[in-house]
Amino acid sequence: MTFQAPKGTFDWMPPRSEWALAVRDALAEPARRAGYGYIETPAFEDTALFSRGVGESTDIVTKEMYTFTSRGGQSLTLRPEGTASVMRAVLEHGLYGGPLPIKLWYSGSYFRYERAQAGRYRHFSQVGAEALGAEDPALDAELIVLAMDGYASLGLRGVRLLLNSLGCKECRPAYRAALQDFLRGLDLDEPTRNRIEINPLRVLDDKRPEVRAQLENAPLVTDHLCGACKAYHEEVRGLLTAAGVAYEDDPRLVRGLDYYTRTTFEFLHDGLGAQSAVGGGGRYDGLSEQIGGPALPSVGWALGVDRTVLAMEAEGLLAERPRGVEVFAVPLGEDARRRVFPLVSELRRAGLAVDMAFGGRGVKGAMKAADRSGARYALILGDRDIEAGAVQVKDLTTADQTAVPLAEVVQFLKGKLS
Ligand code: ATP
Ligand code: MG
Repeated sequence: MTFQAPKGTFDWMPPRSEWALAVRDALAEPARRAGYGYIETPAFEDTALFSRGVGESTDIVTKEMYTFTSRGGQSLTLRPEGTASVMRAVLEHGLYGGPLPIKLWYSGSYFRYERAQAGRYRHFSQVGAEALGAEDPALDAELIVLAMDGYASLGLRGVRLLLNSLGCKECRPAYRAALQDFLRGLDLDEPTRNRIEINPLRVLDDKRPEVRAQLENAPLVTDHLCGACKAYHEEVRGLLTAAGVAYEDDPRLVRGLDYYTRTTFEFLHDGLGAQSAVGGGGRYDGLSEQIGGPALPSVGWALGVDRTVLAMEAEGLLAERPRGVEVFAVPLGEDARRRVFPLVSELRRAGLAVDMAFGGRGVKGAMKAADRSGARYALILGDRDIEAGAVQVKDLTTADQTAVPLAEVVQFLKGKLS
């Protein structure tokens, strides 16, 4: 019997897997340089953390969670997103009593029982950043700039930023009521009608064309913002422009999670088809209180690693081979293998990326392996070389070969490859 990865999941395999790592690093790097500390939380949490934190009426909670009962009888859920866990950890460790804002970044696996398709998986990977405990438009703008810088550092040119404000607890209720009035007059199916009563903003996020067509004249949240929300939003926009980040106002942009207030944003890439969001986030001033904490206004984002690799592919950025080995050693015979092995170890300790032929497949197989490895140089050692105290260094791009004294190989290759 053989096995396959479960539906909606896949394996990252070399050499493509190098890009997953590179993307994770690149997306996190700007946040690390901006003072965000690394946080790692468990891959599962109390189910109630997500049902209360993410929101009872969201697709995530109603349809997409991997929930199970532990052997101890507790209901646990594989994390569908990162923000609720970060907030839980901050509250649990009492960090809100210290200096604010608390800036954290993370990266890991997330799980949602989704309809599997290109760019939409049941197990996927995100890099996230959160700034908790401050209400400051510069913090919202900082996070957006950091994400855009991360995408840009990967060479991506096609990432667009959509921006909106969802208002606050002062102005949202009036907008919500106006939107409900409008939506109740539309021709919608039963589940959507129910959604109007529980979470009407989410109806604006409906992707079905027949629903979208009816939403043309829906009231816009931006026309209902209170003075404070308007000023806050203007400030965020001004700071983005000052930092050289272009955005598109999208008054219909809402998020799939319940806890968002004020600033809301999404990063889109047009090379991805229907699953076009490579990242998203916003301000979530109410989350802490929703899960039993003190008022802790916060803002954050989560960027999709898998879709970012797909976006890079769409822009032709995966063509260049990611860094593999630089040197490949080919021992000719047993004695040579015993001598090459410590040399390979020494070269690696000197900082070079080195591999060698294993499995005793003969010269031809070993030279083929050297070529396939992508190495620039092959180190070939035979009996005659051992007698001469030298090793053949072959440049695999030009086929030039020179004998280098064994004692000088490390320096020689370091010089060539630096
Ligand atoms: P979408 O509208 O595509 O469902 P979302 O609003 O559910 O996205 P978030 O919860 O904000 O997404 O997650 C942030 C990012 O994580 C997304 O922009 C996307 O790049 C990525 N992401 C979310 N769900 C998946 C998934 N099922 N498979 C792959 N990537 C995902
Ligand atoms: Mg989703």
